Amino acid sequence: MEWKILARFVVQTPHRVIRNGCVVVEGDRIVDVGRAGLSGRYPRYERVDAQDCVVIPGLINAHCHAAMTLMRGIADDMPLDRWLGKIWSIESELRREDVYVGTVIACLEMVRSGTTCFNDMYFYPGAVAEAVEEVGMRGVISVPIIELDDRARGERLLREGEEAVREHHGRAGGRVRCSFGPHAPYTCGPELLVRARELADRYHVGVHIHMAETRDEAKRADEAYDLGLNGRSLVEYLDEIGFLGDNVIAAHCIWVTDRDIDILARRGVGVASNPVSNMKLADGIAPVPEMLNRGVGVGLGTDGAASNNCLDLFEEMKAAALLYKATRGDPTLITAHQALEMATLGAARALRLEGLGAVEGGRKADLVLVDLKRPRLVPTHDPISHLVYAVKGGDVKTVMIDGRLVYDRGRILTVDEEGFLERAQRASESLMERAGVGG
Ligand SMILES: [Zn+2]
Repeated sequence: MEWKILARFVVQTPHRVIRNGCVVVEGDRIVDVGRAGLSGRYPRYERVDAQDCVVIPGLINAHCHAAMTLMRGIADDMPLDRWLGKIWSIESELRREDVYVGTVIACLEMVRSGTTCFNDMYFYPGAVAEAVEEVGMRGVISVPIIELDDRARGERLLREGEEAVREHHGRAGGRVRCSFGPHAPYTCGPELLVRARELADRYHVGVHIHMAETRDEAKRADEAYDLGLNGRSLVEYLDEIGFLGDNVIAAHCIWVTDRDIDILARRGVGVASNPVSNMKLADGIAPVPEMLNRGVGVGLGTDGAASNNCLDLFEEMKAAALLYKATRGDPTLITAHQALEMATLGAARALRLEGLGAVEGGRKADLVLVDLKRPRLVPTHDPISHLVYAVKGGDVKTVMIDGRLVYDRGRILTVDEEGFLERAQRASESLMERAGVGG
């Protein structure tokens, strides 16, 4: 399909905005971007009138556990240890169908709020891939490799991860990608971490890990695997064992030092910051301004719906922009431009998805039209300000992914949304019953 989208604003990147712009799409790619006059050069292309809209690059959720939508609102207001205990007992009852339905619901929520791609870590990768494919989204999928004190379990999950890469990487015309997901330095020993890393290199895919989420994580990892850290940080340890590299994306990175940030920058490690989840679980506050200053690629993630409880990146951008102002007494920290960049180009860079994150010729046609004709968004002087401080996910009017319309004016065009809402409610009730949790 060939399209020309005429919009009041085209946000190519947070620093390049065209007023009265035109975006031309052929197949799955953006081929031309410019002022409205450009449209005359493409007379036969399907015209999309978006004079009331701002066109932005599809948002990228840099860290998620999509199927945890089924556990939304089930473990609120408790510390991470208790939270993990409750969640892990529910997860032990998960079936493939649960993951499939939970991921579809997550995809629907994300698409409706302008997210076109997400970086996921969850069980039953085949079910996740199927959901991504059917909804028409993009996803980077990894199996959480959790060893704890059971080496055989670590081995089994590593093999599952490898099978997922073999089977699903590149699926759905490349919309599905895979990576290796060693869960965290306190749930995987050094040998397993290095092996996951080596396999990722061999298959030319990424590594997705949780890192430095809680204050006592280094101590826990040290005790669990006898690392002999002796005051060295987790980042230093991971660097010493050769784990860090530019194909690694690390979620959280809250408890990192200046020296750690230098190491992350030097190794090209991407960071997925999840301010809402971090606040909710009282994990702490990641030094994102310092990471950005030193050139670390930082994306924004929602984390799972059990700790957020929404998958709306507009909320996440606003939270990221407010958090540092409030806690450090400096209103210049994390500007609207920086917040939007983290949810687009920053995430694309952290995930090494070079074709995404901007509205430019040659990039993938993952486009989101946000309706500005709303009381909340009038008047519009600076669309970047609105996108971070005023827009809500529900203001998204149209979503195109890979050149295909997936959502338009209140309707999901790819799957039976109503049916999935009912299935998700049923699946969640049955899951809670099996796990013996009041839901
Ligand atoms: Zn997570």
